[in-house]
Amino acid sequence: MKGKLIIFSAPSGSGKSTIVNYLLTQNLNLKFSVSATSRPPRGKEKNGVEYYFLTPEEFRKGIAGGEFLEYEEVYPGRFYGTLKKEVDNRLEKGENVILDVDVVGGCNIKRHYDGRALSVFIQPPGIEELRRRLEGRGTDTPEVIEKRLEKAGFELSFAPRFDKVIINDDLETARREALETIKKFLGIA
Ligand code: ADP
Ligand code: 5GP
Repeated sequence: MKGKLIIFSAPSGSGKSTIVNYLLTQNLNLKFSVSATSRPPRGKEKNGVEYYFLTPEEFRKGIAGGEFLEYEEVYPGRFYGTLKKEVDNRLEKGENVILDVDVVGGCNIKRHYDGRALSVFIQPPGIEELRRRLEGRGTDTPEVIEKRLEKAGFELSFAPRFDKVIINDDLETARREALETIKKFLGIA
């Protein structure tokens, strides 16, 4: 297996997807691992692009069939999982795989792949800014936003376990830092 893994984790609303999407445009031979989830699509999300949207029943079948590298119940009743087919074939082909997973999944994947994986934590400037970003994104109900904010403190406590912590205050600075970190890990000048 020749490719490498780049894992991004953060509290919801930190700007992880924004940074990952930027990195995907930077010719780094990166392929995004599309996860499966039992949550419904939000905003303009499309099946097979941001996620494979599964019913709870389909998700359970995937677990029973051994299709997942890892999965977590990230929010009550909401499952998210990394599909083996999204990762291993690509690594064998020499492609680098970029993952957007929760803090627990991120630490588990890092442990499994060890030196072949780089784990990056995107840290928001503070909880109030996280609230502003989640509200500003306009894709979640107030109840969903509260659930995400309630979990943010727990998630922030995981930051020291990651290889690299990037504070996403000014987006331009955070993007540059992410790009430099990944180029260094991939050995690109
Ligand atoms: P996540 O994937 O971590 O849940 P998103 O990438 O969806 O977060 O970002 C949440 C919201 O915050 C989006 O509306 C995004 O445009 C905005 N955002 C991202 N980074 C910044 C930043 N540095 N400053 C202000 N707003 C940001
Ligand atoms: P969202 O609903 O905002 O897209 O994602 C919620 C959380 O689930 C985020 O922390 C995201 O990184 C995480 N997540 C997405 N896919 C996976 C996955 O395959 N595995 C795990 N463990 N978490 C995931």
